[in-house]
Amino acid sequence: MPDFSIGVDLGGTNLRIAAISTEGQLLEKIALGVKVALGRDHVIGEMCDAIHRLIDQYREGGRFIGAGIGVPGIIDMETGMMRKSANLPGWAEYPVRDEIERRLGARVFLENDANAAALGEKWLGAARDVDNMAMITLGTGIGGAIILNGKIFYGMNGMAGEFGHVTIEPNGAPCGCGNHGCAERYASATAVVRMAREAIETGHAPALAKIASSDAEFSAKSIYNLAIQGNEDAQRIYHRFGVSLGMLMADLVNILNLDMFVIGGGVVSAWDAFAPPMFAELRERSLVYAATAPEDPVGKKEGASAQIANYTRRKTIITRALLGSDAGLYGAARIPASS
Ligand SMILES: [Zn+2]
Repeated sequence: MPDFSIGVDLGGTNLRIAAISTEGQLLEKIALGVKVALGRDHVIGEMCDAIHRLIDQYREGGRFIGAGIGVPGIIDMETGMMRKSANLPGWAEYPVRDEIERRLGARVFLENDANAAALGEKWLGAARDVDNMAMITLGTGIGGAIILNGKIFYGMNGMAGEFGHVTIEPNGAPCGCGNHGCAERYASATAVVRMAREAIETGHAPALAKIASSDAEFSAKSIYNLAIQGNEDAQRIYHRFGVSLGMLMADLVNILNLDMFVIGGGVVSAWDAFAPPMFAELRERSLVYAATAPEDPVGKKEGASAQIANYTRRKTIITRALLGSDAGLYGAARIPASS
């Protein structure tokens, strides 16, 4: 068996841990129904127990080379502490990396979750061998990562890539960051549910109202299911989502002119509902995109080989993530192997 590392994806509600070989083979994945709400010390304890179990199991065959942990927050790369995390209260200003390193007796790397997802897609997903790319993750909010010349671009203090808080509506909905009209207020799972609730309040969206009252988990996914069944109210929400994301993407393409933009996160499964208006908006608003767009950007007819052909033709490729929700796990495991 080959050498291996551990990748951890710590979210606001879930904790997943995987042993992954240095060649990219998933050896084992553990999804812990951890109650992140039980607090930092509890989560770190469960995480380290699971990592120990995996190390014991796989070190017969190969060397354990370290652990990478993707977390939702801004990280001080020098101290290994989180500066701020809206989804993990109580974790800021605590020596997360050093504490886990002490418990494991091995090298530990802390990384922002969107950066980890970008590294995963670059290693084994849609952006293999692409050295200049950005990752946009659509989930509770919008996460962002920029990779330049094969390396994550952190900015001055690790705060680069906050795509979700780019203003797209000057007088739009207030955002938790203090701004108004941020992209993630219109193009995230949270935004889809908010827009649906607003439509229900008008009294003119009976199908949405029906699933909101009957579906215990009224979510972006249930609203998407309604949209693909032809419900116009649900379709309008995903149209607004696509237009909003297109505005954000137009800014990113204009500013960065990167080879590839990979869109991931849970809501990417609604791709066929939001991608057509996204691409239409993008082409209209970005001169760089209009000049470099591939013939079939939505990728309905074209497969992965066509995307590679577009890459070599110097077209701007905007594509969905290939690794799904595992991108962050693979990317986190990649860090100890490449550091
Ligand atoms: Zn914001």
